Amino acid sequence: MNNKYCKIVQDLLPNYIEGLTSDETNKFIEEHLKECVECKEIYTRMKEEFYKKESDEKVNINFLKKHKKQISKLRITLFIIIIAILILLVNVGRKTYILRKYENANIEYSKCTNYYKKMENEGAISEIWRKDEKILFKRTSESGEQIIYSDQNDTWIIVNEKNPEVKIATRLSEESKIASIGSLASPVLPSNNIWAEIGTAFLSRITTKNVDGVKCYDIYVFPDYIHTLVDKNTLLIKQGINGKYLEYRINNVTDEEVKMPDLTGYEIRNEK
Ligand SMILES: [Zn+2]
Repeated sequence: MNNKYCKIVQDLLPNYIEGLTSDETNKFIEEHLKECVECKEIYTRMKEEFYKKESDEKVNINFLKKHKKQISKLRITLFIIIIAILILLVNVGRKTYILRKYENANIEYSKCTNYYKKMENEGAISEIWRKDEKILFKRTSESGEQIIYSDQNDTWIIVNEKNPEVKIATRLSEESKIASIGSLASPVLPSNNIWAEIGTAFLSRITTKNVDGVKCYDIYVFPDYIHTLVDKNTLLIKQGINGKYLEYRINNVTDEEVKMPDLTGYEIRNEK
């Protein structure tokens, strides 16, 4: 049946299928579809096509959504990896810089022949004075005081026990004399090759710590992981395996301070 409404109904069908038409229009369309076989056929075909298209779109959208999720996951992973690499590089760079600075400072300190240092270890306080070839080392224990004096000619171990009768000065042999000459430097890092240094830095641990109000580097150096606290400014040891360093003086030790002690009243011995 073909009537004057067919054209109108067919124009309205796409909107009707998508549910965009008003109730009155719907009623009009439905009335017509009951009577018109031709329009009814068009309607059925259109409806099938519409739902097929819709489900295809859904599949497409789901695929895109899933893909997008995967891409953003990949991006986040990549971002985290890059950040981790950057942190690692900055960290190793910082440690290499600090260890190099420490090493260079120690090379300079090893050339220093005029210094005083005071350290606390195992309950005793040790003091070292050095001026050129003269060195004086003082150790105080519960039983008294021990002084080691060394110059180009002699090395002496002088013992002053708390008991006033014990006053012994022992003159050391040549070998012991050489061994008693000290240095201001701490043990220098084993290598001067930049790649080895980076490797050492990578495997070492350096943090910062406050010791008696002094800002220090807290260093654990590969491979021994000996714990050392180093003054950030002077790069001198503040605390090491031998104890706590209380004071340093550089380039102002006088001849008076490294004078050979007066051995009057001492029992003089020679090292065998
Ligand atoms: Zn019709």
